[in-house]
Amino acid sequence: MVQPEHDIALQDTDRLQGRAALVNNVKAAVALAGAVRSTLGPRGLDKMLVDSDGSSLVTNDGVTVLETAQIEHPTARLLIAASASQDKVARDGTTTTVVLTAELLQNALEMVRSGIHPSIVINGYGIAHDECLSELEGLSRVPSSQEEIRSVVSTSLAGKIGESLAGHLTGLATEAAELLSDEEGGDDLERLRVKRLPISGGSSTDTELVNGLVVAKTRFDRVTPSSSDGGRVAVIDGGLEGSKLEIDAEIEIRTAGVLQGFHKRVTENLQNQVDHLSSLGVDLLIVRDGISDEAVSMLRGAGITAYRRFERNDMEMASRITGSQIVRDVESLGDGDVGSYSSRSETVTAGVTYTRIDGGEGGAMTVLIRGSSPQIREECERAFDDALGVAFRLTRDSRMLPGGGATQTHLARHLRTFAPTNKGREQIAIEGYAAALEVIPRTLAENAGLSPIDEVLELSASQISDSKNGSWIGLNAWTGEKAHMDDLGVLDPLFVVSNSISGATEATISVLRINDVLWAKQDPMTPDWKDEEDQED
Ligand code: ADP
Ligand code: MG
Repeated sequence: MVQPEHDIALQDTDRLQGRAALVNNVKAAVALAGAVRSTLGPRGLDKMLVDSDGSSLVTNDGVTVLETAQIEHPTARLLIAASASQDKVARDGTTTTVVLTAELLQNALEMVRSGIHPSIVINGYGIAHDECLSELEGLSRVPSSQEEIRSVVSTSLAGKIGESLAGHLTGLATEAAELLSDEEGGDDLERLRVKRLPISGGSSTDTELVNGLVVAKTRFDRVTPSSSDGGRVAVIDGGLEGSKLEIDAEIEIRTAGVLQGFHKRVTENLQNQVDHLSSLGVDLLIVRDGISDEAVSMLRGAGITAYRRFERNDMEMASRITGSQIVRDVESLGDGDVGSYSSRSETVTAGVTYTRIDGGEGGAMTVLIRGSSPQIREECERAFDDALGVAFRLTRDSRMLPGGGATQTHLARHLRTFAPTNKGREQIAIEGYAAALEVIPRTLAENAGLSPIDEVLELSASQISDSKNGSWIGLNAWTGEKAHMDDLGVLDPLFVVSNSISGATEATISVLRINDVLWAKQDPMTPDWKDEEDQED
């Protein structure tokens, strides 16, 4: 914050600090938006991010850019938080959120400069926001075919990856989402239930969806069979070891006889556990901890194939797809805890053994992410994550909107007719909000190498010229033509657009509030103040 140089009254100081703080905050927001706006849309450019250790990452994803960059400014952090929250809730629309917030702030600053108090802007923006949300409901519609759903998903991948990979990942994502559609769970369900397993080699288009669990592991005892056509499985959140007894018995060990007796007890204990598994018909054992060497021959003798050191997530997936209950140790395993799997197989890819386990219960799957380098696999995984996130959310709310700036153009026009129906200075803020929404078609045009001003004007004119379905006319970023976005298949989910508008508005309002507090001593009607330029730098 800039301190005023001159000795002026306290009341003035507050006022100046409020304005200077706003200028400073808007500058930070605009700078941040400047860092990601060139990635917006299908023709957005990629960013190369270089870490302090020299490792690099090429991405077209706004939120990845922001989360990787080390940014300190509190307003910038607030925008990053808005974008991260958009990512969490909607999995898409992160760049849009940041670009829109910066534009809303910039317009707010202009209004403040022309003498409108921040609290009026806050009110006006709030009214405009609510109006937008209800207008969006009316504009949206439900997809009329599976093909349209696929278009919505693939729009979220536009420009991030090549077209053939986008098509491929869209197919996998919609399939996975369909399989999950009956499952209950929160926002993260599609991340928890669909494991992503990067496997080196192959091309990204070899990425495949497996309706089962795949782990980079081999069976504990190579003599046991490498595959099976199914059977009964137990999942243990512990191990098959005699270690507990060892610790308890430590102090008693004084003579060889005691030691022998102790070993005998450990062996007996292990044998009892294996017998118990056998009596329950278990032929596949999965444990989180270790399996003692002594158990190998016992398990082999009982016809049980075992896997050790399973990760928590993998255990949970195994339990879900096979209908088994995870229990703490073998002793407490009951018949009802044992699940059934339909097949198990091991394959070797690029020198690593992978085990695949299928079960009849569903509800969890694995995506084998392929690609020739770790960077390519990571970008493919991020793209799949976006596609699945959108596809999964569409199974809960499939309403969609036209992309290509059509929605924002429509909203801007609507708000301009709506503004005069409001009383007072808020009208101006509503108009400022309308103008800010147009930053989306403007930036899409800019990134496509078109004239932003002309495109926005033409877009609005095209929308008006078609009285029936005009609001679905947007900009085809590839050709520069104005087209019905449903014909073109450029469609954004309603939840992405409405969340992004809400997130941007909230972030803007919270920045304006900071200044409102600083301005509290000032009469809202006080006109512009003159020393602004001195305060800005
Ligand atoms: P975000 O991080 O906000 O999702 P994107 O870079 O994914 O940013 O860009 C999303 C925007 O690009 C949306 O407004 C969407 O409608 C638009 N878009 C996607 N494909 C096209 C296209 N072919 N022509 C015009 N706009 C498109
Ligand atoms: Mg996107």
